[in-house]
Amino acid sequence: MSTADSIKLSIPGGSGRMGNMLIREIAAASDLVLHATSDRPESPLIGKDSGELAGIGANGVMINSDPAALVGGDVMVDFTSPAVSLAHAELAMQNNMAMVIGTTGLDASQEARLAEIGTKIPLVYCANTSVGVTLLRALVEQVAAQLVEGWDIEILETHHHHKVDSPSGTALALGKAAAKGRGVALEDVSDIVRDDQAGASRVGARKAGDIGFAVMRGGDVTGEHSVTFFGASERIALTHMATDRVVFAKGAIRAARFAATADTGFYNMEDVLRG
Ligand code: NAD
Repeated sequence: MSTADSIKLSIPGGSGRMGNMLIREIAAASDLVLHATSDRPESPLIGKDSGELAGIGANGVMINSDPAALVGGDVMVDFTSPAVSLAHAELAMQNNMAMVIGTTGLDASQEARLAEIGTKIPLVYCANTSVGVTLLRALVEQVAAQLVEGWDIEILETHHHHKVDSPSGTALALGKAAAKGRGVALEDVSDIVRDDQAGASRVGARKAGDIGFAVMRGGDVTGEHSVTFFGASERIALTHMATDRVVFAKGAIRAARFAATADTGFYNMEDVLRG
């Protein structure tokens, strides 16, 4: 594919962990070019060469402090933080760019705004862009639909000690898939760490139908999620372990290729794999 036919990607947070990885993946792909990259204005890395920061040698695309620099790309791929991703989604909409958001920890009102923006531009929003987790979600929904009476669902997630949000966006997405399989709303059945600080009603015997969440943080764990279905005298555990963050970057790049040609819409990773 010639440069003229290439998909131009804009990467906010270009000096972050995922940003670095995306810049490496773009450099390795013949159909993609890095249009622009940015970071928070106060970052000491503003003005540095993004290729050098990503460890692939100079690419001439500097880390910009002004989000306006991102305009002009075909697709913006954003792994930053919730409020920043939302602001970038508004910018993408105003400039008719497609968008992929992998940021986690957005609240319900921020997600609702993204869904609205997805009526104006192609927007893929996914808390876990790995192909394996996308398939795991589908499996969890299917198993939860079959195992209802007498089966307890517990979700355990483990991540590195830098991770800010908890439980992870992926754990919540797995919980939503399990709740969907059972035909209930996750808000009505979620029990996030059975903790006596949350009130006496939260300790004691497990409530039938609840979906429990537990969290571990430590070291450099990329991301592990287990959904266990506990029955009488048997149990099923569905587990995904990511050993390298590159799986998220590769999935996000796949989502960007999808978004570049998709119709306007609010998509998730299942849509990307189907497309
Ligand atoms: P990070 O802190 O290493 O990178 C975030 C980057 O965004 C930083 O460089 C930060 O300076 C930058 N940033 C902050 N404000 C900005 C602004 N106004 N404009 C431009 N850039 C700005 O974090 P990370 O580990 O790369 O993760 C980023 C997000 O992606 C988190 O929410 C994380 O949970 C999520 N994540 C999602 C997946 C997935 O599969 N969807 C995988 C990994 C991480």
